[in-house]
Amino acid sequence: MTYTPADNRYDTMTYRRTGRSGLRLPVISLGLWHNFGDARPWQRQRDIVRRAFDLGVTHFDLANNYGPPPGSAETNFGRILGTDLKAHRDEIVISTKAGYYMWPGPYGEWGSRKYLVSSLDQSLKRLGLDYVDIFYHHRPDPDTPLEETMGALDAVVRAGKAQYVGLSNYTSEQTAAAAAILRDLGTPLLIHQPSYSILNRWIEKDNLLDTLETAGAGCIAYSPLQQGLLTDRYLGGIPDDSRVRTSVFLNESDLDNATLGRIHALNDIAKRRGQSLAQMALAWALRDERMTSLIIGASSVEQLENNVAAIDNLPLSDDEIGAIDGTVLD
Ligand code: NDP
Repeated sequence: MTYTPADNRYDTMTYRRTGRSGLRLPVISLGLWHNFGDARPWQRQRDIVRRAFDLGVTHFDLANNYGPPPGSAETNFGRILGTDLKAHRDEIVISTKAGYYMWPGPYGEWGSRKYLVSSLDQSLKRLGLDYVDIFYHHRPDPDTPLEETMGALDAVVRAGKAQYVGLSNYTSEQTAAAAAILRDLGTPLLIHQPSYSILNRWIEKDNLLDTLETAGAGCIAYSPLQQGLLTDRYLGGIPDDSRVRTSVFLNESDLDNATLGRIHALNDIAKRRGQSLAQMALAWALRDERMTSLIIGASSVEQLENNVAAIDNLPLSDDEIGAIDGTVLD
């Protein structure tokens, strides 16, 4: 059936400016790491993407290796774009990345110019696009000179294959060094993509948001729901269709008694706020305005809707923040 986006799609979503750039992103973005590989029905993928766009989610995050199999999330999303969203390309921010293993041999991972440029060319083919909006280096490379990796990011922008560049999983120190090189090249760092959630606060200890503020870059956190632990998914056991059961990236051992205790305690606080645990976890991760956006995953339209509705109740009181801290800090 032909898709016509909702007329009111920009009425309720909140958009934040990405650092000191001109680009604004929705506070909730959709990631396609899981749930968009070939094992998931394409129609369900399509329903999630269309509903996201209807709710004002203008940003979709991918990487060369998302699937499984690697590459299939880009192919499947490209098909959705071509079928439903072609006329709306200029309303959408699409990102992809390279850095992790993608193909055999010495040029299929890390941070060489050879790998990054070839990988982006492959991604563009799978997506059916001439350019992506943001191209990321997915993880720091301990061996390749930072000048070469940043030079490759600058080159793809100059070649018209990406509008902006980003870094992912870089420490504060690595980010500051990379941002200085990019600034000198004339392609400023747009954004950094770290992991961050109530249960994973490394960026606070690393002062990453301060570093990004100085660099004029934004921040978009991934796995803000700790892959589903910070939701109602595991409050009553482990469902067969959950990530713990269907993926190698989350295991039963991640659900030890201490973690389960924390999740239940956090759920009680969320109930008192009149929202779901997922919604409270998102509100918490957005409490610093320098956090431009959060990339959530969703295996159903219902999860997506639940997460986007977090924007209806974002402010947290000092007491609530203290209570949340109390459940997780030893
Ligand atoms: P989340 O922490 O949002 O976890 C998503 C999972 O949580 C869903 O698949 C679902 O699990 C469960 N879930 C989501 N919403 C709800 C809800 N309302 N109620 C109950 N359960 C819910 O993020 P992800 O770990 O999926 O990562 C998000 C995105 O971040 C990725 O798609 C990717 O784009 C990016 N990312 C980037 C990385 C990087 O290195 N740069 C690394 C990892 C992710 P279930 O499947 O069990 O239903």
